[in-house]
Amino acid sequence: MSTSSNRKAIIIGAGMGGLSAAIALNKIGISVEIYEQAKKLRDAGTAISITTNGMNALKALGVDGAMMDAGEVITDMYARETNGDLITRMPVDKVGEKLGAPTVMVHRKNIQNTLLSFINCDQLHLGKELDNFKHTKNGVRVTFKDGSVVEGDMLIGADGNHSAVRNQMFGLDDARHTHYVAWLATTNFEHPVVTKGSANHYWGQGERFGLMDLGDGQVYWWGTKNTKQVAERLQHISLLSGDNNDADKAEIVNTYRDWSDEVVDVIACTPAENIIEVNTRDRKPLKKWGEKGVTLLGDAAHPALTSLGMGAAQAFEDSVVLMKCLESTHDVNKALRLYEKHRIPLTTKRVNLSRNISDMEQVENKWLAKARNTAFRVMPEKLIEIILTDANKFSIPENK
Ligand SMILES: Cc1cc2nc3c(=O)[nH]c(=O)nc-3n(C[C@H](O)[C@H](O)[C@H](O)COP(=O)(O)OP(=O)(O)OC[C@H]3O[C@@H](n4cnc5c(N)ncnc54)[C@H](O)[C@@H]3O)c2cc1C
Repeated sequence: MSTSSNRKAIIIGAGMGGLSAAIALNKIGISVEIYEQAKKLRDAGTAISITTNGMNALKALGVDGAMMDAGEVITDMYARETNGDLITRMPVDKVGEKLGAPTVMVHRKNIQNTLLSFINCDQLHLGKELDNFKHTKNGVRVTFKDGSVVEGDMLIGADGNHSAVRNQMFGLDDARHTHYVAWLATTNFEHPVVTKGSANHYWGQGERFGLMDLGDGQVYWWGTKNTKQVAERLQHISLLSGDNNDADKAEIVNTYRDWSDEVVDVIACTPAENIIEVNTRDRKPLKKWGEKGVTLLGDAAHPALTSLGMGAAQAFEDSVVLMKCLESTHDVNKALRLYEKHRIPLTTKRVNLSRNISDMEQVENKWLAKARNTAFRVMPEKLIEIILTDANKFSIPENK
């Protein structure tokens, strides 16, 4: 085993997980190399919200200020009926004040650029697809599809939902699909409902819509729809060997045609080529993420449905906890098991919570949907604040 000053980490995947892990390990003097299968980093995509827990993790990495500059702080979040009538206010602003960091809406390309600005570009190797890994006496040996080989003290599989690292250890036959599709887009849009720092969620029957301010006259919107054709759509997407598909704008226009004006208008003014269709799915939580000098991080470890909106935030948390554990001991194997011990219980809880919220949100029965909206309408804001505060708690393990 190497000493702390010359330990070397091989990170597979340059998504938000891999890049944040690299920033974290750089901070404690571990030598880091990131290997990404894509020949060019994807700069497309839409936006996400980085919740309070994710911003607190970025604070521990020293990246929160830059991320805030790259996005729009969410101050007003509302749940609404499909016609725009208010159901309730979600006090994310108060949760942010209480826990010390706001929720921020950021375009994915801005997140990528911000994280990349904290990494030395020599550390990133593109066009390197992991084929397999082997444990060695001193650590791990990784072989790429192009036949090249690298060795390190540890391997961090941050290679997303279809992780090759996870596949080699545990297989990938545990995907849990949903019965709905999601459409996503960003576009230029102005409307009186889209005030600075606003996020509006509209809850229908088996259909939802979200409309969020991204700053600079831009919005991020997403819609979901229950469909019996998820399997067929999935088949088509897998033929394209990707997660995204071009969306059928006419279907989206038709789905939300009777919803409030801002929903109808934002879809109408979005160029069709800006809209993607995504299949939401998670995996059954694992009880173990690795062995010896290998572990998982981000979606490779705990892919979740999007209802909680914390996938990226959790990858940032993983990176901070991994950093703390590797700082606490020179023994890589011990540090990785300690990291997993900290992270598995919380991420398992959140994967399951996200699925439960998703079931509630996508409910199709008219009376159940009415009951849900009424329950939230009468629920005291203070109670929602307590629930959200609990969901956003992130504690960093203390090194003694
Ligand atoms: C519709 C939708 C909305 C979302 N909204 C939010 C939100 O509001 N807030 C939030 O926090 N999260 C959100 N998420 C979740 C978030 O996008 C993910 O959790 C996050 O992007 C995961 O990052 P990652 O780096 O772990 O994985 P990925 O982004 O999947 O990155 C993995 C990387 O590994 C590479 N790779 C894969 N296999 C190999 C290999 N064999 N060799 C080398 N490289 C490889 C891939 O090319 C990729 O670049 C959302 C997700 C979806 C689908």
